[in-house]
Amino acid sequence: MDCGQTDADFLSGAAIRKWKDADGGQSELDYWVRGKSVWIGVGASAVHRRRENDDMTIEHVCARCFEDENLAAWIGAVDGEPGCDFCDGDDAPTCDIDDLCRHMEASLREVYGFAVEQLPWESAEGGYIGRQWSTYEILVEEVGLSLPRDQKDHLFQAVLGRLPDEIWCDYDWLSLDMDDALRSSWEQLCETVKHKRRFFFHAVGEDTHDSFTPATLLKAIANISDRMGLIGDIPPNTGLWRARTDIKRGAHTKASDFGPPPEQHATQSNRMNPPGIPMLYLASTPGTALRETKITEGRVGRWVAARALRVLDLRTLKPVPGIFAGRDRDERLALSFLHDFRHDIMQPVERDAAHHVEYLPSQVVTEYLRDYQFEDGKLDGIAYGSTVHPGGWNVALFLSPCDLGLQEPDWDEAKDSSMTFAAARWAKLVHRAAT
Ligand SMILES: [Zn+2]
Repeated sequence: MDCGQTDADFLSGAAIRKWKDADGGQSELDYWVRGKSVWIGVGASAVHRRRENDDMTIEHVCARCFEDENLAAWIGAVDGEPGCDFCDGDDAPTCDIDDLCRHMEASLREVYGFAVEQLPWESAEGGYIGRQWSTYEILVEEVGLSLPRDQKDHLFQAVLGRLPDEIWCDYDWLSLDMDDALRSSWEQLCETVKHKRRFFFHAVGEDTHDSFTPATLLKAIANISDRMGLIGDIPPNTGLWRARTDIKRGAHTKASDFGPPPEQHATQSNRMNPPGIPMLYLASTPGTALRETKITEGRVGRWVAARALRVLDLRTLKPVPGIFAGRDRDERLALSFLHDFRHDIMQPVERDAAHHVEYLPSQVVTEYLRDYQFEDGKLDGIAYGSTVHPGGWNVALFLSPCDLGLQEPDWDEAKDSSMTFAAARWAKLVHRAAT
């Protein structure tokens, strides 16, 4: 029996090498049986992989033949002469289809692994153990490759035929991807601080591949934020507003009325601070300030940044890059986690006693980051988008009354104020377009 020939038909060279390395000594018949099982397992999709004769004429493809914006951009960057072999169009830049498929393969390898290198083989059932996809399934079900000019599936077959004929699996089937590990650790931290430990929670759990203690997780959040460019400045001279709900129209006000609440009056649990630890919450416009305090009119005070204010900036977060964006794996996973993390800590919470624990996770993160030594120094606050006023944003500042020029320091010499108070006025929301 010419088993070698049969194996080559059914399996990639890498698969056979792997098995021979692992099982050296087993009969060729065994390889053949395994190969047959994989062939049957892959089923009809394997047939699709065979390159069709008429694909062979496709050498150059154009950006418009691919809907995926990252693939189109990649072709655009190559910027080959117009003249697509597939659609005959000359309305877009082209590239060599072999180069494009090499880029696609490299991108897929940042997200998936090869079963032959990762998954255990179940001899009795004749298949791999673990999640797995054929290349056809990866393109259709996982990536959702869309080829708008490909009416007869020819371009799809041309791409499929140029990608490795492999069974794909999770990148590392034994451990969670970094974003999933961070996400599950974050869920554990939320549960811990809300319902298990209030003050000494740092070492709950253990650091493994798939989960982190709160202390490790918080450090990771700081590092990832720094690496993803989320530590930024609110420029000097930026005007920021605070609304007071309890000052009547016409009443005389002073700067301190718009500073952080005095410690004894900081009784409320807020998004970033627990009761007793005051913070100064300012908004980007008077309209945002009014909406955040759930009033339609009131006294608003305007502060102006006297220097750049260093903040963790959650206002804008880059979108998670697509699979073919050519970004490294860590960046994709870190951004994916940060999006979920931001979503969680920005959730609107009802202002009643029963919901006070819901703010605990964001308060914990804030308190940790407040003292964290970033490369350029400590933060002045955290900026985040308004959930009640689209387009508006807020900043929770750690500045004390001394930093705001509202109080003389007890011991040190007075420093220059970080912000100066400009003025207060009566503001009213006018319809929905108020500013
Ligand atoms: Zn084309």
